Amino acid sequence: MSEKSDPEKIQKEIMEAMKRMMPQGAPAKNPESQKVEEEKEDKQKKKREHILAFDRKPKDVKRHLDRYVIKQEEAKRVLATAVCDHYNYVRDSERGNKLQNYTKQNILMLGPTGVGKTYLVKSLAELIGVPFVKADATKFSETGYVGGDVEDLIRDLVHQAEGDVELAKYGMVYIDEIDKISTPSQSMGRDVSGTGVQRGLLKIMEDTDVPLRAQNDIQSQIQAMFEYQQKGKLTKPTLNTRHVLFIVSGAFGGLESIVARRLKSQAAGFNVDTRRVVEASASWRLASTADFIQYGFEPEFVGRLPVRVVCDHLMEEDLYRVLTSSEGSILRQYEASFRAYGINMSFDDMALWEIAKQAGREETGARGLLTVCERTFRDLKFEFPSSHVKDFTLTPEMVVSPKEGLRALLREERTKRETEIQAAIDEFERTFLAKSGLAIEFDQSAREAVVLKIIEEGQESVAFLEQLLSNYAYGLGLIQKKKPRDKFVLDAQVIHHPNSVLDAWVKDSYET
Ligand code: ADP
Repeated sequence: MSEKSDPEKIQKEIMEAMKRMMPQGAPAKNPESQKVEEEKEDKQKKKREHILAFDRKPKDVKRHLDRYVIKQEEAKRVLATAVCDHYNYVRDSERGNKLQNYTKQNILMLGPTGVGKTYLVKSLAELIGVPFVKADATKFSETGYVGGDVEDLIRDLVHQAEGDVELAKYGMVYIDEIDKISTPSQSMGRDVSGTGVQRGLLKIMEDTDVPLRAQNDIQSQIQAMFEYQQKGKLTKPTLNTRHVLFIVSGAFGGLESIVARRLKSQAAGFNVDTRRVVEASASWRLASTADFIQYGFEPEFVGRLPVRVVCDHLMEEDLYRVLTSSEGSILRQYEASFRAYGINMSFDDMALWEIAKQAGREETGARGLLTVCERTFRDLKFEFPSSHVKDFTLTPEMVVSPKEGLRALLREERTKRETEIQAAIDEFERTFLAKSGLAIEFDQSAREAVVLKIIEEGQESVAFLEQLLSNYAYGLGLIQKKKPRDKFVLDAQVIHHPNSVLDAWVKDSYET
């Protein structure tokens, strides 16, 4: 690193410049901003008190998770228990009853993508009222690991807690794709940054003071400047990670074969048929610390993750239940977006099964539901708000071929609308006769023109006709006096140029 870009040097230079430029001493606060600040502090204090009065039981927590997360029964039980243990410990140690030799309940989650791992942790953080941060482990190795990177997770917690360091201390850090930073021993000489990241994580998972102002982060340096300006001195705030809960997860491809190999060699002397055991997806559940080390994790790193839990694949029926039973179902979002235009959507049950079936094929867990729903609703969301559709039922055909489904629905809607307009024309003819004593009849071409105009202009039928033919009662009355007739037949010309046609008719009746 050149001397010029050395962050410490930059920081020093900035501070020197600030000293020269800025008068010292705190500027007076305006009462309005002081009030906002006080309210914020009050809110934060309440949140902290809430955590420190933690009194939930694992079953209550699981019940909460059940409302949102489908399946993953074991994961919900284990997580609920670990989280209760953790926040009981946090509460007690903050009250001075610190348990000696407590092992933090950091969690290792195994499972394929899109099956609810993040959703579980996020729901837990929301329930307990702690800040939550998620990152991919690969982010740290890809950018080239530098000491500060993993510590950014802790700084992000403070950011999530709106600057409340005291609240951030109790936050949850969730790191996905942890399997990607394993460095299997067979591949010596390979990129070892994974081990570096593991060590960095290991450190923050322990009891460590993380500096809250990264030297290479301009924003925090500016903050430091303001503090210096206001207080005339500089503090170095830190956050202790003792009470931060870490959850790491990954898909752990290839772990099954490590487990299988170990089980086979263990069973060799016991004449046990291991095939049944190792073939089962349960092999992840049988993974031991030794297997994780074999997979490429540092023993100390695995050791800091005492709670291990497996999340299962979501099958078609699970995906159906995600749609129908989870309070966080994506369908609620689509319903709301149609409702915003006054459109009421309902579902044919078979349509939901079709969505689940197609989502299953995507092999991305419940994320497949988002993909299929997006494909299904894309055109409907664009077309319906400008159509007359006020109610519709999603059918399996619309999921199978959304474009054809939309066309059929719009056709159906148009037929319905045309029938309504034809009835309005009939009614107009009757009212016209009743009011003026004159019989009018829209011929086929006039009817078609009216239908087209009303649909295209999105008008209300009666108002449209009344406005269009507002001079006709009087005009036709003049003609009737000159040349009485049984009825007046209106054609498409009348609809397109009502006044000039009427003028010509009147003139004609007077001339001949
Ligand atoms: P991952 O396991 O990769 O962390 P996520 O938890 O991010 O997957 O899942 C993505 C989205 O899919 C969630 O936000 C949620 O809406 C939905 N989802 C995933 N799994 C479930 C589940 N088991 N129950 C209900 N919804 C789920």
